[in-house]
Amino acid sequence: MSTVNQFKGEIDIQRLPVNSEEHIFHDWVVKYKKSHILHSICATTEKCNDVSQEPCLLCLYTRTLDIPHLPEMVFPNNILTLTHASGGQIEFNALDALKTVANGKLPIKVACSEEWNESRPPELLKEKIKPFDWTFSNDYKGTIAGPVTVTPTDERIDIERLKEKEKILFYQELMLYEDELHDNGISSCTIKIRVMPSSFFILLRFFLRVDNVMLRVNDTRLFHDFTTDYVLREFTNKECGFGDVQLPLNVFGNPNALSPHMPIRTALYEKLTFGACNPPTEGDQDGCSTSKIE
Ligand SMILES: [Zn+2]
Repeated sequence: MSTVNQFKGEIDIQRLPVNSEEHIFHDWVVKYKKSHILHSICATTEKCNDVSQEPCLLCLYTRTLDIPHLPEMVFPNNILTLTHASGGQIEFNALDALKTVANGKLPIKVACSEEWNESRPPELLKEKIKPFDWTFSNDYKGTIAGPVTVTPTDERIDIERLKEKEKILFYQELMLYEDELHDNGISSCTIKIRVMPSSFFILLRFFLRVDNVMLRVNDTRLFHDFTTDYVLREFTNKECGFGDVQLPLNVFGNPNALSPHMPIRTALYEKLTFGACNPPTEGDQDGCSTSKIE
C-alpha cells in the first residue's frame, strides 16, 4: 500500500505499512514491529518546527542524537519488545542503539584511528576532526524499563543447551541500522530472537569491518529459561586488526564466521531479575498464562 508523493514523485515511505506481530509465551509478551528505512528528507518541516507537535521520525532522530550524520540505513520502526507479566520490559530499537554511539565525548574506540587515518580516503578526512565515532560503533545492550533488577552474575548462558534441537516456536530478525562507511567496509546492528518451548534466546549484534584496518563484533546475548524469574545477559566486545584473522577473504562479510577467530576484549555478565506475576484481573488476559504460538 505504497503511496506516491505527487509533488516530489517519490514514494512516501512514511505511509508504507508496518508489519507487526505479538505472541504470548508463558509470562512474556513478545512483540515486534518492522517497517521501512528512515526517510532522508523531512516532508513536514512546518509541523516539525512546531514544538507543540510531534516531529517526524527523521527530525526526532537528528534532534535526539546530535551526531553529524546518521547511518545510511536506519530502521526506526524495527522494534522488538519483550514484556514480562510483572511489568518489566526489555526493548531493542535503533534510536537507543545510536544513542550509545560516542559523540562529542570521545576519541575512545576510534582506537584504530592511526591506521585508519593512513588508509582512509580523502572524502573522509574532514570527519576525523570531529569527535564523532563515524563507525557508528555501539555498546547497546537493549533498553530496560519497569521493575527489573540488574546484577552481576557468575552464571553463564549454556551454549550447549542452545545447540540442542528444540522446536522453534517463533523466530524474527530485525535490522536496526547499517552503513557502508563510504564503501570502506560495513557497520551494522541487527537483532535476532528465537523462542523455544523451554526458553528464549536473543542476539543483538554490532558488526564493524573497516577494510584492511580492523574488525569489531559487539554481541549482547540474552537467554531466559521459562522456569526461572531471570534473564541472563552477556555482552562481549571482540576486536582485532584486519590481518589478525587468517581466513579466506570471502568470509569477511560474515560475522558468524569471523567472530570465533577474534579475541574478546571485554565481557560483562549480568542477571536481569523480573518481579512476580501480577494476579490476572477479571476479564483481562491472564498475563501469567501459558500459551503458544499457533
Ligand atoms: Zn521533520
